Amino acid sequence: MIRWMRVLFPKICPMCGEAVRETEILCAACAQDLPQRPKKALIGEVNGRPVYCRALYRYHSAVRRALLQMKFAGQCSRAEGFGQLLGALVAGETYDLVTYVPMEAYRERIRGYNQARLLAEYCGAVCSIPVKPVLYKTRHTAVQHEQESTGARARNVEGAYAAHPLNGASVLLCDDIATSCTTLRSCVHALKQAGASEVQCICVALSGRAL
Ligand SMILES: [Zn+2]
Repeated sequence: MIRWMRVLFPKICPMCGEAVRETEILCAACAQDLPQRPKKALIGEVNGRPVYCRALYRYHSAVRRALLQMKFAGQCSRAEGFGQLLGALVAGETYDLVTYVPMEAYRERIRGYNQARLLAEYCGAVCSIPVKPVLYKTRHTAVQHEQESTGARARNVEGAYAAHPLNGASVLLCDDIATSCTTLRSCVHALKQAGASEVQCICVALSGRAL
């Protein structure tokens, strides 16, 4: 999907949406005013090794606006810069594959794209790691950010994801926002059940609730 996006859309700064040169990621103004990078959040363990979620940013107003534009306003081209920054975040690390949190098919049809998949594809392209759709949903779930408590979020996604057999592959899992990390936990559990040897998670923004 990312191959034709460049044909249709010029490259933009993922944070503010201004046009940038092909060699740039953030525009000069956004690059100077970067929000703080959050601490990593512990998600679980696979094979006795801790699984962390690392993020580019704390979830604050400018990042929130940028992600809402990417997700709901059709500005999927913001995924290019964020995906490339995610690639830089894991530079030098080796994984057998990059994957992403899947969307329900009907929601993806309405939106036209899955922003987590786009992030994974740009990240994978930077890191030269293949991107594979190994996770899938096993049942319908309500919209996660509309759940009122962490407990409700956890119940909403518990057992809602499964993964195709992984035969010992190490996996880098991408998503756009992690708030309570319950979706990532459910996905990591599915990857572990499917035989992943290692899992690490990355996302654009991590909210205070996850820290
Ligand atoms: Zn900018």
